[in-house]
Amino acid sequence: MSRKKVHVKSFGCQMNKLDTALVTAALQEAGFGLSESVKEADVVLINTCSVREHAEQRVLSHLGHLKHMKKSRPDLVVGVIGCMAQRLGSKLLEHEAVNIVCGPAEIPRISKLIAGAVQEDKKTLAVTEKVRRKGSEQQNRSLEEFESAYGIEDERVPAQAFVRVMRGCNNFCSYCVVPYVRGPEASRPPKAIIEQIRKLADHGVKQITLLGQTVNSYRYKAGERAWSLADLLSAASGVRGIEWLRFVTSYPAEEFFEEIMQVMAESPKVCNYLHIPAQSGSDKILKAMNRNYTSQRYLDLLDRAREIVPEISIAGDFIVGFPGETEEDFQATVNLVEKARYRNAFIFKYSPRPGTKSDKKLQDTVPGEVKQRRNVELLAVQETISDELSRQFLGRRVRVLVEGLSKKPHLNSTQGGNNPQLVARTATDYIVVFNGPESLAGQFAEVKITQTSPLTLFGQLMSDS
Ligand code: SAM
Ligand code: SF4
Repeated sequence: MSRKKVHVKSFGCQMNKLDTALVTAALQEAGFGLSESVKEADVVLINTCSVREHAEQRVLSHLGHLKHMKKSRPDLVVGVIGCMAQRLGSKLLEHEAVNIVCGPAEIPRISKLIAGAVQEDKKTLAVTEKVRRKGSEQQNRSLEEFESAYGIEDERVPAQAFVRVMRGCNNFCSYCVVPYVRGPEASRPPKAIIEQIRKLADHGVKQITLLGQTVNSYRYKAGERAWSLADLLSAASGVRGIEWLRFVTSYPAEEFFEEIMQVMAESPKVCNYLHIPAQSGSDKILKAMNRNYTSQRYLDLLDRAREIVPEISIAGDFIVGFPGETEEDFQATVNLVEKARYRNAFIFKYSPRPGTKSDKKLQDTVPGEVKQRRNVELLAVQETISDELSRQFLGRRVRVLVEGLSKKPHLNSTQGGNNPQLVARTATDYIVVFNGPESLAGQFAEVKITQTSPLTLFGQLMSDS
């Protein structure tokens, strides 16, 4: 049998991108080739997201194209993995285009499932039946083995990798589908995490981002010792070759917060960056969202973070148009954004998700155009702040880790001679664009900032870097 080729398409968050990287490595080891184009592929694998309806619609429209394609190519195998696979299960399998539906906890089986579907024209469902039940030991072991085996070559960006430290979530924010598709919170053993980081460092990785839905609640009992995220960051700081460590996403909780900020202040390797979603500035809406804090307690946490790490840059997430959000509630969110002075804020329009508490109990009362207006207004408030913060960099020299060629040519290319434009990031997550040799991808460099825009800094490569 000739080597079958798989085309992998990924939607969604960092967690999904990481799953895609693991699955791709596993498929290659199982003897599959990879294809950049759907046309040349024997198998199309789609990793899906369920967080907002729009993400699911994009997948469904993609499956519509594949259904047409299958009319002339009936042997094409289509697999759906990720959150949407877990959420819709057998319903998704009924789709004419789909051969395999495989939930996030079942991905260690993916190579076998695909090999089976290539050999025999059949439909296979592999989802976790009682997703909120703690995984069996066997399931946990196979997930852990899968992660440790294939989580060592995740280099989507040169010299950078993501490492999952925990799976699932126990928070049940009323709007969120994640706990229903990713299952209960489970922290990975610190030994396995540190070993993985060590292997990544041996492969030349310099920056690691630790991933978890509420990464700051990482907790693992190993014998007498209980590990927190702060302990994990300290241990990871000791790995030779790793120069920058990040962690996302943090839940605004007091527990462990100071310890984590202290490690950030003390370890030069832990980047001064905190992604800590607020979701709303209105206490009434926060309560309806089942977020366990008030806007004041959230702002107090930011103050504390800035006291301990004065240079810290902070990012937040917001949902506008949650059921019952009045103009007054929205104004409270605007006020919070003004006070928080984020480096960046990610703003989403509320999208009702089937099965969540807010969808069952609350009407999606805020009209689409109001959500859109609030989204635009909040973005404008944030843009003014981002612009002010960016301007402070004018004339300053910054250290960056270079990601690679810039996709958007912003700068006058004569500024860099014959060199192409590169994109890089500071430890505080500012995007920096400058001209330099492509060979700098994956290297650290020093750049002098000469121009700024709200989300990007532009500069010149220092010859001594
Ligand atoms: N666990 C992380 C947290 O709690 O911050 C992130 C989870 S979620 C994948 C990323 C962001 O999507 C959330 O912070 C929230 O702002 C947004 N989000 C989640 N559910 C949503 C929904 N139903 N409608 C709109 N935005 C949503
Ligand atoms: Fe969803 Fe809330 Fe868990 Fe984040 S903390 S994944 S928003 S339930």
